[in-house]
Amino acid sequence: MSMPVSTLPEEFLPRDTADVVRTVRDSRKNTKPLIIRGGERPDEELHLPDHGQVLSLRKMNRVQVVDADARTVRVQAGAKLSDIDRTLAAHGLGLPVVGDHRDITAGGFAAVGGLSAASHKYGMFSDNVVELEYVDQDGRFGTCGRTHHVERFRKILGGGGRTGIITALTLEVNTVDKDRTWLTSDAHRFLDFDTFVEQSYKAIQSPGDSLLQSGRWVDTAPLKVSRPVGTGHVQLGTVRFGQWSSLHPTTPNLSLRARREVGARARKSLGAIASSASGRAGMPVRNAAAGALMFAPKVLTLRDAEYLADTVISSSERGPAYRVSLFAPMSSYTRVFHGLHDLFSGHRERTGCFTVISAMTYGVRSGYLRELDNEDHAFITFTCRLRPAALPSELLRDIVSSIDEICVAERARRYDPTD
Ligand SMILES: Cc1cc2nc3c(=O)[nH]c(=O)nc-3n(C[C@H](O)[C@H](O)[C@H](O)COP(=O)(O)OP(=O)(O)OC[C@H]3O[C@@H](n4cnc5c(N)ncnc54)[C@H](O)[C@@H]3O)c2cc1C
Repeated sequence: MSMPVSTLPEEFLPRDTADVVRTVRDSRKNTKPLIIRGGERPDEELHLPDHGQVLSLRKMNRVQVVDADARTVRVQAGAKLSDIDRTLAAHGLGLPVVGDHRDITAGGFAAVGGLSAASHKYGMFSDNVVELEYVDQDGRFGTCGRTHHVERFRKILGGGGRTGIITALTLEVNTVDKDRTWLTSDAHRFLDFDTFVEQSYKAIQSPGDSLLQSGRWVDTAPLKVSRPVGTGHVQLGTVRFGQWSSLHPTTPNLSLRARREVGARARKSLGAIASSASGRAGMPVRNAAAGALMFAPKVLTLRDAEYLADTVISSSERGPAYRVSLFAPMSSYTRVFHGLHDLFSGHRERTGCFTVISAMTYGVRSGYLRELDNEDHAFITFTCRLRPAALPSELLRDIVSSIDEICVAERARRYDPTD
């Protein structure tokens, strides 16, 4: 049964919320598709479909109330997670789950679910939402939360904006000083995929006191070097490498602080190298710098760690890639991981459509997911660099339907934050 929305007249709404209501109603009248944007997108006009209209929440970016006793914060939907966290820090508080990009907004993150390397401990961002305000598809304003209009609340969280535009949220927060919470990395490296998956499974099942965790796997197609005409190719072999990292709290001492300084400088330089290497020719440099950043041993603060991937993502996102992300119940984790890897590497071998195959994984202890399967889950995401000419649309369709079959057989669920 769909739940009623509040009938609060428009004139009683805050002005910016009333603007959202009006924009949605107008778009319905003139049947223009509405594109919701959480934050700033300098390139948004480039992606604007014909006759579409952008509704941006970037001006609704205030952190409105911090309640240190209740450990909650009320924010407008367009507030960036990094800004919310900065405001919370002044109160000795912090967000449990933040995306690895500084510009992600609270509304956008809640609308997709929201994951991070802390999700093995704190679930999804949406698990930490207490209540929210929204405007539905008909332009009606409403509120819902854990204890009222629960059905609608769940539909909006993770609904990708299709089930309501979030205008404000109340979030549960942690008592934590992210700038003084020091972490040290316990890293295990693997050259063999089976062992990597097996160890990741164990680490997700038993995370101990780790505050952040993640496993990364990379393998390349055999590198070939052209010889002079007529003599064919020389095959140099495949790079296969994985790492599981758990970041545990530690007490800072002088040596740790010094290592953090060195590490921070090294990361900054690698980030700069990765960002400056442009074009096709720069791809190996970018990948190498991004890899070094990811796999480098780390002593760092929780805040450093949360945004570590920011530079890497911005610098290594270039270039065509096929990406799939999903939640696997722990009972089928290893089968899902192997199934996807076999699928991508098999297609790479047969058609050469993919080049570098990389994967990332961590645990997700989410109340919402648990309700569906009564067990914990892991997040698995594969990014496959591709050769567009070798990936015609029929082949892509085959790959997508094979992934769907794996999902159905293993009760895995897609996570599509770009939906
Ligand atoms: C560089 C980068 C790094 C990322 N890292 C992570 C990560 O670590 N973990 C993770 O889980 N996801 C990650 N994502 C995905 C990200 O969480 C989603 O794309 C999220 O929607 C982005 O929020 P935004 O505020 O930037 O929204 P936008 O990019 O502006 O909008 C994306 C979509 O979100 C929906 N949306 C935005 N605001 C609202 C709102 N107020 N109400 C309802 N729907 C809304 C709309 O459907 C919109 O089309 C990343 C994305 C990028 C680009």
